[in-house]
Amino acid sequence: MKNIKRCILIMCDSLRRDLILPDSSPTLTALANNASWFANARAVFPSTTRVSSASIATGCHPGRHGLLGNKMITEDGKGLRCHNVGEPVFRDHLQRVTGRTLRVPTLAQRVAAHGGACIMSNVSAGAAYFNDPDGFGEVFHSAGSYGPGREPYLDERALPIKSGCIGDTEMTARFCKKLLEPDAPVIATLWLSEPDHSGHGHPLGSPAHFAAIANANACVARVLDVVDQLRGRGEDVLLMVASDHGMETVINEIDVGQALVDAGLKAAADSDDVVIAPNGSSCMVAIDPRVGFLHSAIVEFFNHQPWCAAVYEKQALTQLGLSPEDAGNTLAVVMQSYEQANEFGIPGSTCIVADAQDPKNYNGFGQHGGLGNYEQAPFLIVQGSGFPTQSTHYGPASLVDFAPTFLHHLGLPCTDMDGSPLQLRIGADDHSASRSRLSCIAAH
Ligand SMILES: [Zn+2]
Repeated sequence: MKNIKRCILIMCDSLRRDLILPDSSPTLTALANNASWFANARAVFPSTTRVSSASIATGCHPGRHGLLGNKMITEDGKGLRCHNVGEPVFRDHLQRVTGRTLRVPTLAQRVAAHGGACIMSNVSAGAAYFNDPDGFGEVFHSAGSYGPGREPYLDERALPIKSGCIGDTEMTARFCKKLLEPDAPVIATLWLSEPDHSGHGHPLGSPAHFAAIANANACVARVLDVVDQLRGRGEDVLLMVASDHGMETVINEIDVGQALVDAGLKAAADSDDVVIAPNGSSCMVAIDPRVGFLHSAIVEFFNHQPWCAAVYEKQALTQLGLSPEDAGNTLAVVMQSYEQANEFGIPGSTCIVADAQDPKNYNGFGQHGGLGNYEQAPFLIVQGSGFPTQSTHYGPASLVDFAPTFLHHLGLPCTDMDGSPLQLRIGADDHSASRSRLSCIAAH
C-alpha cells in the first residue's frame, strides 16, 4: 500500500490547555485521556499565529527561520518599516527585500519527494503561506489556494470560507475528503480559526468563547472518524492535535510608540527613527543607527514602565529563540501579565501594545503574543506509534518539536532543527506517568 505511514495535525488556534473541559470539549478530553498528553507544552516567542506556523513548519525558533512576528520590521533601503505579515503580499515583500522567504527548509520541502504535504488554514493568509512559503506542497486558504510550484488553484480547489465556526466546519469537511483520496499527502495540517477568532472578540470563558471551543472540538471529532478509517485499512497514522498558544484577558492597552515620543526618545508617532512592531502582549522595537545613541536610554525607559515585564537585547535575545546577530539594534519588549481572573473566572490578564493598523479595542477580550503563563500554555496531544496511551508527559515540548516528530514517524532525517522527535524523549522522561488524564484537567 502506498504511503502507509502518515501524519495528521489539527490546530485549534489559541485553545489554552486549562480550557479543555469535558462539557465543551468532550472529544478532546477523551483523546487527552486516551493518548499522550504533554502537560508542559510551550508556545514560541512571539506567541503569535504566523510565527507559530513558521516554527511548526521548520522545527526552528524565529531566530533561525527569520519570521519575527505577526507584525515585522524590515529595512528595505528606505528606512525601517513595520509590515503586517498577515497580508498575502508580505511573502513577496520579504522575498524581494531579503532574497528569500524563510531561511530554513520547511516540512513541505523535506517531504516533497516522499509523499508531499498540504495545509488547509482558516487563520490569516500569512499564517497559511508561511507554513509552505515556497510552494513545495499544497496550501488552501480563502485568500488563494496553491499547488506545488505555487500554481494557483482557481477551480473548485479554491477555499472561499470565512474565519469562524461555519468556515472551520466547511474546511474540516474538505479536509476529511482529502484525507481519503488515494493521493492524500503524507503530512496533512488542518488549522482551525477557533477559538482564536471568537476569543479576540469575546471574554474568555464567556458562552460565545465556549461555543467556539465546542465547534473546534466537533471539527476534531470529524477528523478522528477519518483517522479511524485510515487506521482500519492498515495505515500507520501519527495524529497530533494541538494549539499554537493560549490567550489572556486584555486589561490595559499601551501606546508604546506615543510613550516613547512623550519621553523624548522618538521623534513622532509615525517617525522611522524608532519603529514598533506590535505583537499583542509583546512588541519588537527597532532603533535606526542614526539614533543609536538612544539605545541605552530606551532600554532604561522600558525597564521603568509598570506595563513592561522585561526587555531583551543583544545576547539575551537568544533566551527567547531570537537571533542577536540579525536583531542588530532591535529590542524585544514583553508586556506585564498577571494572575487576575476575568468576570467568567478565567485566570490570566495582560497589558498589550496598541496597534495603529488595528484600532479595534481589545479590552476585556483575549490576546496573546508574549510570555504570560496562559499564553505559553497551549495543549498538545499525540496518538500513534511511539506514543503510549493514557500517559502524561511533563518534560518540555514545543511547537519546534512537531516537524522532527513527523519526520521521525516517516523515517526521514530531521537534522538542522531546534526541536527533536518527541518519540525519542518520552521514554527517557522520568516524569512520564501512565494514568487517567481527567484528574489532571480537572485540577486546573
Ligand atoms: Zn494562533
